[in-house]
Amino acid sequence: MRVSTLDERRQFYSREFSLMKVREWFRGWKSPIVFAAVIGRHTRIAPMKYLRERSRTLVIDEYGSPSEIRNYLIDFKPESAYYDRNVYNDWEQARSSGNDTAQLGHSFGQELAFDIDPENFTCPIHGTLEEKMRRHQGLSFCRLEFQLAQQEAAQLVEILSREFSEICLVYSGRGFHIHIRDEKTVFWNRRSRLALVKRLSKRGFMMDEWVPSGGMRLIRLPYSLNGLVSRVAIPLAENELGVFDPITDERTMPKFLPR
Ligand SMILES: [Zn+2]
Repeated sequence: MRVSTLDERRQFYSREFSLMKVREWFRGWKSPIVFAAVIGRHTRIAPMKYLRERSRTLVIDEYGSPSEIRNYLIDFKPESAYYDRNVYNDWEQARSSGNDTAQLGHSFGQELAFDIDPENFTCPIHGTLEEKMRRHQGLSFCRLEFQLAQQEAAQLVEILSREFSEICLVYSGRGFHIHIRDEKTVFWNRRSRLALVKRLSKRGFMMDEWVPSGGMRLIRLPYSLNGLVSRVAIPLAENELGVFDPITDERTMPKFLPR
């Protein structure tokens, strides 16, 4: 896996990115959907005109039709594309929610999601996350760490499915995101979210509580390109966990990669 070039990002968003699939992902959402992009925070790769903004989170909350989302992404050629899990009452509320810092507020809900990243797992060869950070390898991971993350995602989905009925699993290009689509969870407050996270960590699940508790409202947009690794974020079926291989799976390989 390697970073994508600007031209590859352009190719992907102009020829391959499927708005139809994105629409399908948001089926049933009635509230405004805010998108976001980061052009080159980690890769440092950005179009000339956006060099100064390459590390910023660019919020996309002004678009007439979904097809304009594609135009933004072709223009930005971002390393990462996201959507905002917050559920807003109207566009005014969505647009006033600010840039990076808006969290789960009082007046809107949020899609419940979990984030499982391979670099958080301690590896017999590469060590703990702290050790990897010290070597500036905080974002990289090996196959073994990926397998550990995949195992944990499978267990977590299994446990969550006892309580929730609409669970979507997404391979993010790095690890896994688990989205809970049950309507009741959307308006859970921070306390209920933290209580669930606490229960899960007691069972041994390692997770970043920042995502499920509402501290981080953006999550990678399914079907977008993860330009850090040149993989497409794709929803997976539950029974694929354990056999899914991001190195060879056709669905996650953008067309610009050689086969
Ligand atoms: Zn390792």
